Amino acid sequence: MKFTDLPFRPEIIRAIEDVGYESPTPIQEQAIPVILEGKDVIGSAQTGTGKTAAFALPTIERLGGHGKCRCLAIGPTRELAAQVEENFHLYGKYLDLKVTLLHGGVGYGKQKSDLANGVDVIVATPGRLLDHVQQGTANLDDVEILILDEVDRMLDMGFIEDVRKIISKCKRKDRQTLLFSATVPDTIQRLAKWALKDPVNITI
Ligand code: AMP
Repeated sequence: MKFTDLPFRPEIIRAIEDVGYESPTPIQEQAIPVILEGKDVIGSAQTGTGKTAAFALPTIERLGGHGKCRCLAIGPTRELAAQVEENFHLYGKYLDLKVTLLHGGVGYGKQKSDLANGVDVIVATPGRLLDHVQQGTANLDDVEILILDEVDRMLDMGFIEDVRKIISKCKRKDRQTLLFSATVPDTIQRLAKWALKDPVNITI
């Protein structure tokens, strides 16, 4: 399979060509068509498999840019969130997509002004995102695509309650939820049962 066999708009194909990817990785081959159809996904895949592009590319295809937060991606660490944000920038560079990164350990000023200016995609760590939601500076009412990345690590780091709170703030009934985790133990299965609708399981 080639990326040009997938129904991506030309701006995305151009961005993929710029980064130099020739063909989709196995997780991308399996996940991209399913995500483009709007289905929920549980992907068990390690870092290094190309999982970030597997969720970012079809998410960008489905979104376009509108200045409302229609996509939220959360992950366990600042480094991971920064990588995910970088991927959204790379693949969305020919589309008018506003992506913002929220994590702890830095001031609130720039994050608040970015949010006030309107964003299409928020990439965040759980604690700082909840701070913004509680302060009313971030609003998750319009989130259509929710991405939970490296859920097993978020569980290990004690973030599962925060993750649950965040999921319950994304209230749209037609929300698409994508859950990625290297392993899917019972706790994560239960979380998935609560948060996802008829998910397609993809294991690499
Ligand atoms: P990830 O698993 O998302 O952390 O990605 C691991 C690495 O694979 C990153 O450096 C990506 O830039 C790279 N990558 C993602 N998709 C492809 C692809 N289709 N072809 C070649 N490299 C890729």
